[in-house]
Amino acid sequence: MNLSDEQEAIRDVVREFAVEEIRPTAAEADSDQTFPEDVWDGLADLDLTGMTVPEAYGGLDVDRLTYSLVNEEVAYGMLSVATALSVHCLATSCIAEFGDDDQRERWLPEMVDGRPVGAFALSEPQAGSNPAEMTTEARREGDEYVLNGKKQWITNGQRAGVVVLFAKTDRDDPRSVTQFVVPKDADGLEVGKKEDKLGLRASDTTSLVFDDVRIPAANRLTEEGKGLSAALHILNGGRIGIASQSVGLAQSALDEAVEYAGEREQFGQPIAEIQTIRHKIADMRTRLGAARLLARDAARKDDRGEDVELAASMAKYFASETAVDVANEAVQIHGGYGYTTDFDVERLYRDSKITTIYEGTSEIQKKVIARNVLG
Ligand SMILES: Cc1cc2nc3c(=O)[nH]c(=O)nc-3n(C[C@H](O)[C@H](O)[C@H](O)COP(=O)(O)OP(=O)(O)OC[C@H]3O[C@@H](n4cnc5c(N)ncnc54)[C@H](O)[C@@H]3O)c2cc1C
Repeated sequence: MNLSDEQEAIRDVVREFAVEEIRPTAAEADSDQTFPEDVWDGLADLDLTGMTVPEAYGGLDVDRLTYSLVNEEVAYGMLSVATALSVHCLATSCIAEFGDDDQRERWLPEMVDGRPVGAFALSEPQAGSNPAEMTTEARREGDEYVLNGKKQWITNGQRAGVVVLFAKTDRDDPRSVTQFVVPKDADGLEVGKKEDKLGLRASDTTSLVFDDVRIPAANRLTEEGKGLSAALHILNGGRIGIASQSVGLAQSALDEAVEYAGEREQFGQPIAEIQTIRHKIADMRTRLGAARLLARDAARKDDRGEDVELAASMAKYFASETAVDVANEAVQIHGGYGYTTDFDVERLYRDSKITTIYEGTSEIQKKVIARNVLG
């Protein structure tokens, strides 16, 4: 599938940034569980923190295919960084797509510049795969809403300055989910525990606790009751992003495996000469190619204005499972060395797993795919 000259140029710039600036920080950021803020500033300098924002608010307003390419390349550098960026873009997309002119003007220009960082708060301790079961409440009082509840697994939970929040105006009515934008420094909003995770360790994941947080009614992004459909719409694009990140991570694991197989000798020859290893590489490359095609196909459909629910779920499901498989085989090809932090494949293997879980698990993607096929 051909890319335009502009798409190729952006991809090449981001690939260079990923190799030169992101990758060298990855091992330390992972072991320290600290987000590489200099890298974030670099992404902002490349205007990528505003890539889903209209030009009128200073953004790049790229097409979905370009968004997919950027996600792939940033994840080639490090998944933690790609995740932080894509969640920031979910937040800016919500404000750009559902906000009015005042709301856009108030929040977007600064977020385009990279700070404040955005967060997207949908999941709760008891409501993950089924967000309609959320219990966080937004009670209207005069010109304000009063927020109470707890959000769970919030990427950029510590770093963010702006939270796009989903809450019910009536706790007992699943149709009352509404979307708000909440400044992180609002009184009564506390950042909860930072999760100690298997992978994605440089990306901060926290809970957010809302205890009588008062926000102006003007911070409501959608009409009451329109929040869940807004979230699901935005997540279709998000899933294409996660599919693309999975492709980037898998490409990184494959490149590491190919290099190692060429250098490592056993039985008097590079292991790359052993047919079993060659077949592993062939399988990895084939699945990676198929995942990339699915991700780009979904992105192109989105750019043509077609319904992408099916394509986005197929891409997310296949690409994320591929990332896990390819990273697993990359560790295997490294033998015992791959099991140590001396080699990047160890981190890639740990990081890969989250792609099958967040923004809809593989089981949920299959549910969506089957519903589209079977009705
Ligand atoms: C590192 C990380 C970052 C995250 N970032 C964010 C974020 O920024 N914002 C946000 O809102 N959320 C975020 N999430 C939350 C994430 O989207 C949820 O964890 C995910 O949707 C799954 O929800 P759950 O963990 O509650 O699992 P559950 O919904 O409890 O699922 C448990 C298991 O049951 C399966 N299952 C559930 N229902 C069905 C069904 N109907 N059919 C078949 N199988 C089913 C699931 O596939 C899974 O295997 C993040 C999560 C993690 C771990």
